[in-house]
Amino acid sequence: MAMTKFSLNYILLSTFLFTNCNNTAVLKVSSSSPKNVIFLISDGAGLSQISSAYYFKDSSVHYSRFKHIGLIQTHSSDSDITDSAACGTAFATGKKTYNGAIGVLDDFTRVENLVEIASANGVKSGIVSTSSITHATPASFYAHVVSRNQENEIAKQLSESDVDFFAGGGIDFFIQGAERQNLFHILGSKGFTLNTKELDAFKTIKNKNKLAYLLADKSMPKMLDGRGDFLKNATLLGIEFLNQKDQPFFMMSEGSQVDWGGHANDAEYLISELIDFDETIGAVLDFAEKDGETLVIVTSDHETGGFTLSGKKYTDVNGNIHNDYRTIDPSFSTGGHSATLIPVFAYGPGSEEFKGIYDNTDIFYKILKITNWKN
Ligand code: MG
Ligand code: ZN
Repeated sequence: MAMTKFSLNYILLSTFLFTNCNNTAVLKVSSSSPKNVIFLISDGAGLSQISSAYYFKDSSVHYSRFKHIGLIQTHSSDSDITDSAACGTAFATGKKTYNGAIGVLDDFTRVENLVEIASANGVKSGIVSTSSITHATPASFYAHVVSRNQENEIAKQLSESDVDFFAGGGIDFFIQGAERQNLFHILGSKGFTLNTKELDAFKTIKNKNKLAYLLADKSMPKMLDGRGDFLKNATLLGIEFLNQKDQPFFMMSEGSQVDWGGHANDAEYLISELIDFDETIGAVLDFAEKDGETLVIVTSDHETGGFTLSGKKYTDVNGNIHNDYRTIDPSFSTGGHSATLIPVFAYGPGSEEFKGIYDNTDIFYKILKITNWKN
């Protein structure tokens, strides 16, 4: 007689309880279906950007903590090389679209995103970025506009969205624009408590309904200009806020400015942003390890700059150019994005699903499959 799923689970559970009955710090039983999903995106980070942490970070690199790693193809519906809007939309909706599109298809029809799906499934959601919170990557998770440049409209849609927690820059898009809009009162009427000065201590906000942090007029400062631990702290505050009362949550947190270091062909800028992102990965993995019911996915939308960890060039006495393999002198091949495959790292229940080589849209379908969230 075939063993039923119930009896097998019962035996496994009994064995677990028996072997742990003398251990006061019993680990939570992990199931293959996570309660929470944390999606971390470093905009513009390909393998060389990630590799830079291994040469330029003074402390341990948290990317090393992942066991399940894959690669994604990132082309958009109209280009081999994607932009952040098309790839953000691929992640958030499972659909390919044109570069510049936020949550709409080639024919401009709206397509349901992860925040909307999470909300419909009783899952709270949070969005954090080091750009304006209305920038292409975060916007893809909650908004629908035909052009990523419509940041005033995106701000309006965020104010009226199902997002429960957000933190980033972008005050200007809430209080300016063609219609001189002031969305602060809409945020209030939709249940948000807004802070434009700083992140609060958790104990002072834990009983709030929804939370909005707008901490810069446009983007947050660079790491090199003293942004400090904003990305890590905002992400952890969001997790703590959303994780109350044992309710499930979805969190998307973006290290936005790795991309901007790449566009500027500024290795110091790029690497400092990547290291900040790695610190955020570490803090999130610390949470997920303790929690046991959280799936963590880390990836990027595309590579920026054609960044390379090349050897330092030198010219010998005969005028011939050589590369000194003992000294890395990062270089760039473009001021734009590139089409290279992008790594995906996953941890927690369901993380095995993210191994292999697949399409950026598959991340969306894998999340839905593993969580059983219905769209
Ligand atoms: Mg971005
Ligand atoms: Zn870019």
